[in-house]
Amino acid sequence: MIIRKTENPRQRPPANEPLGFGKHFTDHMIVMRYQPETGWGEPSIEPYGPLNLDPSALVFHYGQAIFEGLKAFRGDDGRLRLFRPDRYLERLNRSAKRLCIPPVDTQVVKEAIKELVRIDQDWIPSIEGGSLYLRPFIIATDPMLGVHASKGYILAVIAGPVGAYFANGFNPVKIMVCTEYVRATPGGVGEAKVAGNYAASLLAGEEAKKKGFDQVLWLDGVERRYIEEVGAMNIFFKIGDEVITPALVGTILPGVTRMSTIEMLKAWGISVTERKISIEELADAAEQGELKEVFGTGTAAVIAPVSEIVWNDRKIIAGDGTVGPVTQRLFETITGIQYGRNSINTDWVEIL
Ligand SMILES: *Cc1c(COP(=O)(O)O)cnc(C)c1O
Repeated sequence: MIIRKTENPRQRPPANEPLGFGKHFTDHMIVMRYQPETGWGEPSIEPYGPLNLDPSALVFHYGQAIFEGLKAFRGDDGRLRLFRPDRYLERLNRSAKRLCIPPVDTQVVKEAIKELVRIDQDWIPSIEGGSLYLRPFIIATDPMLGVHASKGYILAVIAGPVGAYFANGFNPVKIMVCTEYVRATPGGVGEAKVAGNYAASLLAGEEAKKKGFDQVLWLDGVERRYIEEVGAMNIFFKIGDEVITPALVGTILPGVTRMSTIEMLKAWGISVTERKISIEELADAAEQGELKEVFGTGTAAVIAPVSEIVWNDRKIIAGDGTVGPVTQRLFETITGIQYGRNSINTDWVEIL
């Protein structure tokens, strides 16, 4: 691996302001290039800075771009931990396949990520809930406008310090069911972490924000009945004693946090079912007082309690509007593993 360290360290985030999410980036980044004759080259670690791309690069025109998002932590014991890196990098290759991007050697990329985290480790915030968010992405670079899969690609990994997702404590969010637009359709790219999925969801998000909601809840694109996900988070419902999450039917992003949540619930002996669940079923369960908890799962927030879902003129309220015990326990256990606070599921973290 080629390592070229910066001579001009970047400005550190001001200590008296909340870090927010995705606003600051560390001194270095990983860059790796692909050409068909040579395959993926060696990764290099370079000073963080602009990528030089031709304006005709395919990514700008036809959107051949995928990404990932994972985190590194400094544990309470001072050691650096990566949370389930193999799961994220396997998914990167599944997304790559869907967009005709050549697969990477996940072990090579993982080793480069570990090196980046070691080099930029003093950027990991020491505040409660702080971590280093890592953003691998791959873009098509061929300078030509013919519609075809690019021959050349760049993989880059940038990193940035992030604070706790909920700056004012573990705050329940309000979400709105989107009835006008859809996020994904069967056979499409909904289950791949494709940049364009986000572009397609922005309008619905903006409209929901104007109405005072934090997120959009997406329904299936065919019948517009079955709950899919929240767009950057998967969703879980506790109805009675059972936890239900929509099954991965091809239009839902298979979250690593979703997978970890299911594994955790099973280990605790809590009944968890992956199946289709319609929005009517959810609204009816809430009316009958059976909807106990709702939470989203995703790398950024880990576990996000949801207090209220609005579907046209129906208000779906989870429990008593406060954070439920399963939601709380999942958050504490998963973050506990990430910071090395408990000795269970140590195979979920790689210590650097
Ligand atoms: C990344 C993402 C998620 C959450 O996945 P995690 O692996 O848990 O971070 C959920 N939905 C969409 C559309 C995503 O892109």
